[in-house]
Amino acid sequence: MALFPCSAVPALRFWGLRGARVWTRWPRITGGGWPISCSADASSDTGGGGHSEKKFLLQDIAELIKTRACQRVVVMVGAGISTPSGIPDFRSPGVGYYSILRQYKLPYPEAIFELSFFFHDPKPFFTFAKKLYPGNYRPNATHYFLRLLHEKELLLRLYTQNIDGLERASGIPASKLVEAHGSLASATCTICRRPYPGEDFWADVMVDRVPRCPVCSGVTKPDIVFFGEPLPKRFLLHLADFPMADLLLILGTSLEVEPFASLSDAVRSSVPRLLINRDLVGSLARNPRGRDVVQLGDVVHGVKRLVELLGWTDDIQDLIQRETGKFDGWDRL
Ligand SMILES: [Zn+2]
Repeated sequence: MALFPCSAVPALRFWGLRGARVWTRWPRITGGGWPISCSADASSDTGGGGHSEKKFLLQDIAELIKTRACQRVVVMVGAGISTPSGIPDFRSPGVGYYSILRQYKLPYPEAIFELSFFFHDPKPFFTFAKKLYPGNYRPNATHYFLRLLHEKELLLRLYTQNIDGLERASGIPASKLVEAHGSLASATCTICRRPYPGEDFWADVMVDRVPRCPVCSGVTKPDIVFFGEPLPKRFLLHLADFPMADLLLILGTSLEVEPFASLSDAVRSSVPRLLINRDLVGSLARNPRGRDVVQLGDVVHGVKRLVELLGWTDDIQDLIQRETGKFDGWDRL
């Protein structure tokens, strides 16, 4: 929060990348560390709960939370929760990024996040980063729902693929976050590995200057994970968190980037999984479980539906009022 108070956070995301991308230093996650429970139905049709006698529904998830039958909730989120804050998909034509591709002759959008290209020519990345620093992105209803989950002492951990910092900006403490693909809040020299203050980094970027280390003149790079780089050490928390989870929420992610995507399989098989997303994705499509619930469509709409079922509408309105000071209606979020 020190570097990016409130909503003044630039945004980059890794999502929907062409095919499943893998950070090679991390093995694919194949399951929770606890013995597999046999209490859940082994299979279900798309949408969850197919072969169970009673289909598991969003209402059932809400009931588990309301009654505190589940109080170790692990959440996985992706770019789909940032889109309603106005953060565009960097690969989408018409949002300005493709001009960078043409200008710098990038072979494809993802090359911006490849180290080999960065070391060859860092300018495309910084040009891209500058475009994403309007400083006006704000957390939306989904972020505040997750904050509320934390305030009600139900959030075990939030795993995010987003590097826009909106989870932090919503007030969720760092101890509850795993920013799996790093953050733009800090930077490091690529040569001597000295930390480079985020303020200095952005001061350079905003005047089209490649930020360089004052000690060795090496190019500095924000502490986000490029392809081929190791994930932050905090990602190892998944080894304890997922086997402990008693509910998994998956919001706004295409579950295409490994090893993040495989986390969805790492909860015990008896643990309910709720996917709120535009599309049915990942293992919830390939290997659905009996207590899966899938809420397809607009992510904010799905989250609002859950909030209503939880009876938290007043709570979240109060929270947003407190945080933004100019809340002008739940329906406008
Ligand atoms: Zn240096």
